[in-house]
Amino acid sequence: MSFEKVAFEKDSSKALKNKKLRKALVNVTDRFRAARLRASSQVEDWNELRASAREIKKGTIENLDKYLLMLEESVKRAGGKVHWAKDAAEACDIIVGIAREGEVSSVVKSKSMATEEIELNSAFEKNGIKVVETDLGEYIIQLAGEHPSHIIAPAIHKTKDDISELFSEKLGIPHYDEPEELTKVARERLRSEFLNAGMGVSGANFAVAETGTIVIVENEGNARLTTTVPKIHVALVGIEKLLPRYEDLSLFLTLLARSATGQKSSTYVSFITGPRRETDTDGPEEFHLVLLDNGRSGILASEKTRESLYCIRCGACLNICPVYRQVGGHSYGWVYSGPIGAIINPQLMGIDKAPELPFASSLCGACRGVCPVKIDFPKVLLDLRKQVVDKEGKSNRVGWHLFEMLGIKLWRLTVESKSLYEAANKIAYYLQTPWKKGKGNLDSLPYPFSRWTNERDFPQVAKEPFRKRWKKIKRELG
Ligand code: SF4
Repeated sequence: MSFEKVAFEKDSSKALKNKKLRKALVNVTDRFRAARLRASSQVEDWNELRASAREIKKGTIENLDKYLLMLEESVKRAGGKVHWAKDAAEACDIIVGIAREGEVSSVVKSKSMATEEIELNSAFEKNGIKVVETDLGEYIIQLAGEHPSHIIAPAIHKTKDDISELFSEKLGIPHYDEPEELTKVARERLRSEFLNAGMGVSGANFAVAETGTIVIVENEGNARLTTTVPKIHVALVGIEKLLPRYEDLSLFLTLLARSATGQKSSTYVSFITGPRRETDTDGPEEFHLVLLDNGRSGILASEKTRESLYCIRCGACLNICPVYRQVGGHSYGWVYSGPIGAIINPQLMGIDKAPELPFASSLCGACRGVCPVKIDFPKVLLDLRKQVVDKEGKSNRVGWHLFEMLGIKLWRLTVESKSLYEAANKIAYYLQTPWKKGKGNLDSLPYPFSRWTNERDFPQVAKEPFRKRWKKIKRELG
């Protein structure tokens, strides 16, 4: 698969000027954050659970060869077929091949980042096979011809008005104002797609090695229909999605639902082990599991960044990230966004295709603080930054870094000396005059400070330090 170079700086600058997008992002991520905080604080040993999950993922990833073979055996035992795909092209060929063999002309899909990763929809379309996304967010994105901008909320960047306009244009219906009406339209359209589809394609949240069970977590019920109504079910699963034992699921399902949406449990949790059995009342006649590498074994080989594979795709790191919350998912240039995108995209695409992403972070560590498997983002980001700098040699990135270092040294010198600090404050107070617009913030400082003020607030320097003003206030208050 050939990738275009990610232009994070350019795309994020554009996104920052889009006030509607920023408002939509902050609204939704605020809701997710509050819900996660509420749900996680109700679990007494939340941090111990996170630590246990990290240990299980570590053990799984470090013994992936063993568990993958165990999974293959288990799926075959349950009557399913297993396919190995080394890259996106091979995965698409396998899945399109299964469709052709089954004489399938129409496919329904549930939400799956792995299928986005391999661009499965365009592979189907190139082969004359109709494909319809059935998750509401993905359906919106498919109609708009866009990529998802959030792991669990793909259409997070769209407002209700955007969707109303899109539905009206693409589906030829009147403008509806209420989300319920828009959802009803989608549901009615999708119902017939389920009934006519010859094949359902899903991803999986987890694949259990000892039983061959894949687990799908969702809130709309569309994944359950996708995996049970058509006669063929294909699950595309990244090789890192494994869990060794069935009993591990209770821990991971507890963490996933709370971290993702703040629910105690998602509305639908499907456990699928092989195709329909004689005694089953429904389910597909064929079950195919396609195990996708697509660069993951490269990540596995790196001891320093291997933990990127622990991710269970809950989206919590996106919702908390001060960068993602302002620029949204499309700035990350590929399917994965936010902190997990900043570490995984450069490793899956090749670091030369996404050299700006490891720098798309303030290293505040908020992502590490919420991650249910405790991925140490700052550590991984720093290692990736080193790889970029080693590769680029003496680039302007190093020049900018030296400039930053000089600034920090000067800052330290100033704040360590009371007299120097007060003198610097006075100078800054008078120097800021040309950029003062009323009270509050400074507008458009000259370069290089404009890199900050073009997109963010910069508070005015006060005439007197707070310490002096506080003394006066206390005196006035008696
Ligand atoms: S990195 Fe952690 S917080 Fe981010 S999506 Fe993955 S599991 Fe969730």
